[in-house]
Amino acid sequence: MSPIWLQEFWRLFMLMLSMGFIGLLFGQTLLFLLITTLSYIAWHLYNIYRLENWFLNNKLPESRGIWGEVFYQLYRRQQRHRKRKRRLSIILKRFKRSTAAMPDAAVVLNKKFQIEWFNKAAKKLLGLKAPQDRNKLITNLIRNPAFATYLKTIDDDKKGIKLVAPNKPEIMLNICVTPYAGNQYLLMANDISPLHRLEQSRRDFIANISHELRTPLTVIQGFIETMRDNEEIAMKQWQRPLLLMDQQSARMRNIIDDLLFLSRLECCETLENTHNKAVNVAEIITSIYEQAQLLSTEHNLTLEIDQNVTLNGDAKELRSAFSNLVFNAIRYTPAGGDIKMRWYQDAEGKHFAVHDTGDGIAPEHLPRITERFYRIDVGRSRDKGGTGLGLAIVKHVINHHDGKLRIESIVGKGSVFYCDFSR
Ligand code: ADP
Repeated sequence: MSPIWLQEFWRLFMLMLSMGFIGLLFGQTLLFLLITTLSYIAWHLYNIYRLENWFLNNKLPESRGIWGEVFYQLYRRQQRHRKRKRRLSIILKRFKRSTAAMPDAAVVLNKKFQIEWFNKAAKKLLGLKAPQDRNKLITNLIRNPAFATYLKTIDDDKKGIKLVAPNKPEIMLNICVTPYAGNQYLLMANDISPLHRLEQSRRDFIANISHELRTPLTVIQGFIETMRDNEEIAMKQWQRPLLLMDQQSARMRNIIDDLLFLSRLECCETLENTHNKAVNVAEIITSIYEQAQLLSTEHNLTLEIDQNVTLNGDAKELRSAFSNLVFNAIRYTPAGGDIKMRWYQDAEGKHFAVHDTGDGIAPEHLPRITERFYRIDVGRSRDKGGTGLGLAIVKHVINHHDGKLRIESIVGKGSVFYCDFSR
């Protein structure tokens, strides 16, 4: 079928032709053509009037020809639009009902982090108020420097952040902000107070028990030492048991000290970072290097440091983390192997790296290697005086300094432990 406008064109052409012919019979061609043109325009104007009337009063007109087709097409479009609107409003209602029933807070933010929309739980957990808080900056309502820092890194940090709920110190929240639709962000916050309390009591338990065990152990160690110093006892068959008792109690003491250090690190992890002192890392690493040289004459130790690079942080924690990595390298590298320590800065930040040519770690162990008491070879670790807590301490200290622990390792060839600091 030919298009409507073409049909209309031919209709008009035939009309003009026949009216021109009739006009010719009456000797009034021009007059007849003029009357036909005016009637044609009047018919169009009348239909435009009916179209406007339809839009204003919602009364569907009926017509023939081109206008009949226009009215029909518009009517179909209107029906389709109505159906879509009805469907969308059902979806919207369902969405509103489900977000209202959701126990987690959901907040939609624009690219400037201004609030565009939030659900019922956001009112309860984050203390948001409608409509006053719409268009306000989220950082004005969640006033926490750690949250402001987190917002700056959300594009590369997929993890959430743990925060105390605004004006509700008893509620602990896990907040996660995800970019979506190109220029918006979705903030989700869930109440993790029960889990947090559980973690807290676990931490307290470990800290308390370690503390309680330390005193009796000190007494036992004291007696063992006295007995070993007593020539009369030491000379007899007790010599070896006393030596073993001394070694084992020293091992227990090391484990307890590491556990206490770990629980101190954990308790401060959620608090605002208070490390603002510049630490002379080069000095710390040099002293660890000297200690390592005394401890191991069988390894080839090298040091490569940039004296000018400092780091803001806690000197004691950093010393502990770095020495754990260096002493691990000594422990797990056979005699004659190479161990290299590096402290340097590049475009990505500051780095401490320990390279060794030791046993290496198989890829399946890497995801769990920083867990407490996770060892690849328990017997070997014990023989070498390891507590199984070294890498857990390293990870916590590095996290505490907003850094990341990166491990590259090939079994049989060696490992590189990197501490990457971005600030
Ligand atoms: P440990 O006190 O047993 O050394 P860590 O937490 O320091 O405990 O290390 C966990 C395990 O990771 C170790 O038992 C060892 O198997 C492995 N490991 C750590 N450092 C190295 C290394 N440089 N080379 C090979 N394996 C390592």
